[in-house]
Amino acid sequence: MNDPKTRPMRPAGAPAFVTASERVRERLRAAGRRFHANDNIAEFIQGDELKALEAEVTEKMQALLEALVIDTESDHNTRGTAGRVARMFLREVFKGRYQRIPAITVFPNAEKLNELMIVGPITVRSACSHHLVPILGKLWIGVLPSEQSNLVGLSKYSRIADWVMSRPQIQEEAVMQLADLLEARLKPEGVALVLEADHYCTQWRGVKDETHMTNSIMRGAFLTNPELRREFLQLVRD
Ligand SMILES: [Zn+2]
Repeated sequence: MNDPKTRPMRPAGAPAFVTASERVRERLRAAGRRFHANDNIAEFIQGDELKALEAEVTEKMQALLEALVIDTESDHNTRGTAGRVARMFLREVFKGRYQRIPAITVFPNAEKLNELMIVGPITVRSACSHHLVPILGKLWIGVLPSEQSNLVGLSKYSRIADWVMSRPQIQEEAVMQLADLLEARLKPEGVALVLEADHYCTQWRGVKDETHMTNSIMRGAFLTNPELRREFLQLVRD
């Protein structure tokens, strides 16, 4: 294993970290940044490295199929599976880890709006960190703007939500991440979220049929003002 002859040749002057994932990981460690499944690491991926990551994941995915004793050479259905799964992970279902936050134009609250605003239901597509199996659900976002708040267009809420959810997630952490982000960007009086989702990992594995989970999170005025909280939850239920 440690025979130097079997190690990949490294040209003189090449960086000490050979694979793309090693380079990205090293930058994250140097910056002291966390890289859990539901963290965004886009700013640590440089140049063509996403492509290199895709090639790396394809190779590992192929090894996984081989370990599962699937004959990907004869089985035309699985011949391109490794590459397809790699692309799906990096560019689709987990893109919220590898892509930067979508551009969101905020504009000042010129009309001094201070009424409860509710956006939803927004379709949520995610996957559980434990099994990488889909979580599909619906999300409602309540915002109580202040006169100093930033406002964003309605469609932007689903883009921000999609960015946070397109990662391996834990439902409780996902709503927290989203609430933090909305608070930081909008600076509202309060933010409220309700996420209802089906977890396919228990259903698919046949562990139990109970797969529905609802999470809510209340911040700012939604915590201190029961009237406002009631109004939000009432409107979400209807
Ligand atoms: Zn799971």
